[in-house]
Amino acid sequence: MRTTQAAMNPSSPLPDLSRLCIHTITTKPWAIETAAAEFAAAGVKGITVWRDTLAGRDIAQTGRMLRDQGLSIVSLCRGGFFPAATAAGRTKALEDNRLAIFEAQLLGAPLIVLVCGAVPGQPLSESRKQIVDGIAALLPECQAAGVKLAIEPLHPMYADSRSAVNTLAQANDMVEQLKSPWVGVAADVYHLWWDPALEQEIARCGRLKALFAYHVCDWRTPTTDLLLDRGLMGEGCIPLRQIRAWVEAAGFNGFNEVEVFSTRLWATDQNEFLKKIVQAYKDHV
Ligand code: ZN
Repeated sequence: MRTTQAAMNPSSPLPDLSRLCIHTITTKPWAIETAAAEFAAAGVKGITVWRDTLAGRDIAQTGRMLRDQGLSIVSLCRGGFFPAATAAGRTKALEDNRLAIFEAQLLGAPLIVLVCGAVPGQPLSESRKQIVDGIAALLPECQAAGVKLAIEPLHPMYADSRSAVNTLAQANDMVEQLKSPWVGVAADVYHLWWDPALEQEIARCGRLKALFAYHVCDWRTPTTDLLLDRGLMGEGCIPLRQIRAWVEAAGFNGFNEVEVFSTRLWATDQNEFLKKIVQAYKDHV
């Protein structure tokens, strides 16, 4: 039997956590200061910040606090929700996205994840057009702020009201249409794992140099809530290692971001949960 360093020293950090990022929403009960301290102590290297955690805080100071903990700020979640039934509604959406770009710049986050939006009853094709127009309108601000945008395709079960972008192919089409180095894709296994075109579309995304972010969790059977019953990696049926191999074959070498919304897991002791996240990352991602 080969003796590895890990086998000789059980406290060895192998496999390494250098690409482990956790979203603040994953440990929602924790304030961002607590999350930062606990993540850093656990050896986590990246954090994706949800905007609600910044409420009432000095955003630039919060960014410094995160970096002082040794954490890379991977992205800000989230912008988007571009479609609306009226022009006034679409203008309001753009204003919120401009605020998100400003917040990302203050925080020192290089990327904003976009949940693109949809309007119940409005044709999805019209919503997709409004999404492309909305992103295009933000590009000058993105460039000025040095903040990129990542279109996150959402599972088709959210096509009514959360996103008219439901496959990686649709997101790649938008990236091609917008032709900007400031626009790419956030690939989330929860939304994309079922897609028979996933391998080829991940490769295409890589060729477009547009694979900006990779989110992991798992799909539970049965899923008891369409939004808040995500599984921790290993609790479900998503072929995580297979998808990570495709993503890395496409040239992605960024963070693997753990994004779990789960009322079940939020109700547990968050320090114990963090230990489980780290173990699940080692075992399944
Ligand atoms: Zn995601």
